[in-house]
Amino acid sequence: MQDKIALEEHLSTRENGQYWDDSGEAARNGQAYMAEVARRLLDVDDRIEAMDRAGVAVSVLSLTSPGVQGITDPQVASTVARHTNDTIHDTFVHRHPSRFAFFATVAVQDPHAGAVELQRAVTELGAKGALVNGYTDLPDGGVRYLDHPSCEPFWDMAAELGVPVYLHPREPHPGSRGIYEGYESLVGSAWGFGHETATHAVRLMLSGLFDRRPGLQVVLGHLGEALPFLLPRLEHRLHKQREGTGLGSAKRTVTEYFTSNIVLTTSGHFDTKALAYTISTIGSDRVLFSTDYPYETMDEAASWFDSAPLNRNDAARIGRLNAADLLRIPTA
Ligand code: ZN
Repeated sequence: MQDKIALEEHLSTRENGQYWDDSGEAARNGQAYMAEVARRLLDVDDRIEAMDRAGVAVSVLSLTSPGVQGITDPQVASTVARHTNDTIHDTFVHRHPSRFAFFATVAVQDPHAGAVELQRAVTELGAKGALVNGYTDLPDGGVRYLDHPSCEPFWDMAAELGVPVYLHPREPHPGSRGIYEGYESLVGSAWGFGHETATHAVRLMLSGLFDRRPGLQVVLGHLGEALPFLLPRLEHRLHKQREGTGLGSAKRTVTEYFTSNIVLTTSGHFDTKALAYTISTIGSDRVLFSTDYPYETMDEAASWFDSAPLNRNDAARIGRLNAADLLRIPTA
């Protein structure tokens, strides 16, 4: 299929490289793999070539994980976020407006500043929304998840602008990695990413976030971080617990939020049975094609998707139309 739109496509900047330690990823994935990823994160021309080969018309770019979420100084995080958005706009989107769009980098260490930067990135630079790499590191060594009440200004701005927020994984906080002891290879994208991000997404659903902003859309990658399979049991057990009061602040069921406020992408999870199951739980209008470049190749993502047994309408929706609607990308 030609003219696909891909939403979880990562890059880095030289400034971000100063804060990004890939030694853990290199140890898990191999030095050669990470050296090639690091090169491709900064490259423009190879990316366009890969898109052309894979039939990807538009890549929606974002700063690679953990990005500014891993910077403990709020002022530095806000400054790096601003620079990142300017760099993505100037280097990619401004030079190739028909091929690239982007999700803003936003530092919620200071949620008010994050809201202001989201507004600037969307209204002045044309960002299609924000991508946040999981929890945020704080100066005192703690972490903050996006359901924390202090993050309300950020969510208010996303809702006011009518743009989605992509919740992308990062590795679990060192304080919660005990379960992976002796199995370092599970900390990152192979397993820990999904475990961490699925829990974060459930926190959002139980927090009442979507009751206060019913139109808000949150994007999850990797076919929903296993949530399509796990949510029925979650819902079942929450209703059993504590005489049915286990829903936190939420007024509706997790299934209702999942099918109204969450959209999923195929990034890095190229399995046809999982795709079919995902579509059966959330509907083909809430699944969007993505690759997870450069951690995955566009060739692999596209050749899998293009040969998946989808009817023509579903393929068109997932490959292009759902993203065009969500991000207001012209389809002419
Ligand atoms: Zn990714």
